[in-house]
Amino acid sequence: MKEQVRVRFAPSPTGHLHIGGARTALFNWLYARHHGGTFILRIEDTDRTRSTDAYIEAITQGMHWLNLDWDEGPFRQTDRFAVYRSYVERLLQEGKAYHCYCAVEELEQRRQLALAQGRPQKYDGRCRDLKEAVPGRVPVVRFRTPQQGETVVDDLIRGRVVFDNSQLDDLIILRSDNSPTYNFTVVVDDVDMRITHVIRGDDHLNNTPKQIHIYKALGYEIPKFAHLPMILGADKTRLSKRHGATSVMAYEEMGYLPEALTNYLVRLGWSHGDQEVFSREELIRFFSFENVGNAAAVFNPEKLLWLNQQYIIAAAPGRLAELVVPFLAKQQIITEGQALDMAWLARAVKTLQERAKTLGELASSLRYYIAEEITFQEKAQEKFLNEKSLPLLKDLKEALAACADFSHAGLEPVFKGVVEKHGVKLGAVAQPVRVAMTGGTESPGIYEVLEVLGKEKTLQRLEKAILSIG
Ligand code: GLU
Repeated sequence: MKEQVRVRFAPSPTGHLHIGGARTALFNWLYARHHGGTFILRIEDTDRTRSTDAYIEAITQGMHWLNLDWDEGPFRQTDRFAVYRSYVERLLQEGKAYHCYCAVEELEQRRQLALAQGRPQKYDGRCRDLKEAVPGRVPVVRFRTPQQGETVVDDLIRGRVVFDNSQLDDLIILRSDNSPTYNFTVVVDDVDMRITHVIRGDDHLNNTPKQIHIYKALGYEIPKFAHLPMILGADKTRLSKRHGATSVMAYEEMGYLPEALTNYLVRLGWSHGDQEVFSREELIRFFSFENVGNAAAVFNPEKLLWLNQQYIIAAAPGRLAELVVPFLAKQQIITEGQALDMAWLARAVKTLQERAKTLGELASSLRYYIAEEITFQEKAQEKFLNEKSLPLLKDLKEALAACADFSHAGLEPVFKGVVEKHGVKLGAVAQPVRVAMTGGTESPGIYEVLEVLGKEKTLQRLEKAILSIG
């Protein structure tokens, strides 16, 4: 029987969900969905000084926004201390772990000495074979790490990576305050949760040999590993705040669609020929580690913006209308809680979505549709609302007042009538009307604009333009 894929995303809640974490979550999620497996969310909150509930909330919020649903969890490591301690006990009994009574200051002194003498700065194994407890000292528990031979990580992305066991430390698995340490809890959880594939950032590659020894000591099968390439900024240093927004929710605030960010994240390391835009179904269908390179990926905000535009162009106007409302409020185009005719807003959006790269841009381009009053841009007013256009605007206003069909098909003959009467080009009428309706010289097709504004607003705005000429 084919083994059931079980993967996990294991964030430490010491910050928001950032680009790198979201990519790790996404790759795990895609791998699970591709194989019909199980995706588990595990919160690694053993570092109690830096982990907060607010960050757990922020991480799950980011995952919800990206539509990365999990099948089991969220588990919290701080709920599982009893489990970890029972495993420590087992290793102690089997002689695979031991109590170490060395004091922190002693360890530090020895470390300094090793440094000065050019020896490896690792634990010297002094308590490995102690027979008795040292009175008056509270011990830690160390894992007896094999010191001979090699450990091979057969990574699905990196290939074969060999580590020399003599470089590995007898790592502490239980601190003197009885709290378990990171590398140990990861293994216990991966064992307990029957994880088949560990997919994570390659900053964890160096932890892998240590963890492999713990799997072996516990007598468990070693999962497959896939260490994802690093993400760099344009200057080829590790992606950080210096390169702009790195928190996933910042992208929501900036007006990105979650599927655009998802599509962008997947391309940070993975490719499928030359294809850039993928539906969710395609991502699930195509995803495999064979197409994940091991070269670092460079985060490119312009490409993300371009993708976002592609998704805005393709989105259903009704959905964009819903999504744009908070941006309208933020830009004070509507007041908080103002009632809007959503079907009308969707029609307005439809005329503009081709041009907007973000929801923020979409919102600001909607301003003239929604505003009660518009102001004319000075240059546009000078150029198009003047004595020359006045008779055209007057005639058009009269003709539109008599027009019962304010659709593209109904409006076109009205404009044509004025154009023919005055022997001018369509632009000579359309451009002044555009300024009258929008305040500026750029907008969707003039019939579309009028169709959205409707008869009453159109006539009001024409009147205002005519009066402005005087
Ligand atoms: N908690 C670790 C982190 O946030 C992940 C550990 C793992 O995936 O094994 O980087």
